Amino acid sequence: MANNTYFKHEGPWSDASKEFLCSDTGSWRTKRPLIDNDNCIYCGFCAIYCPVQCMEQLDNTFVPDLNFCKGCGICAKECPKNAISMILEREFK
Ligand code: SF4
Ligand code: SF4
Repeated sequence: MANNTYFKHEGPWSDASKEFLCSDTGSWRTKRPLIDNDNCIYCGFCAIYCPVQCMEQLDNTFVPDLNFCKGCGICAKECPKNAISMILEREFK
């Protein structure tokens, strides 16, 4: 099996043990989720609904693994506190 850490966020539709099926498409993303921790209530909905399971809990916050985040915005849509904004990637360059 290939490097498990690298492929840890593979979705259930692909084979995480095969590199050519790995979905680390972070460089393709046009928007990224930005979490406002002042509004976040740590419910974890963003992590539950993320289709590629790339939203990680770190201490008292959630952060997307940008190697795998697609920028789909589902986390932002599902957040009950509207604490996630989808920001254009070019804003971070
Ligand atoms: S869904 Fe929103 S409120 Fe809930 S943990 Fe994620 S960012 Fe925080
Ligand atoms: S934008 Fe999509 S892929 Fe990225 S963390 Fe949110 S739900 Fe997951």
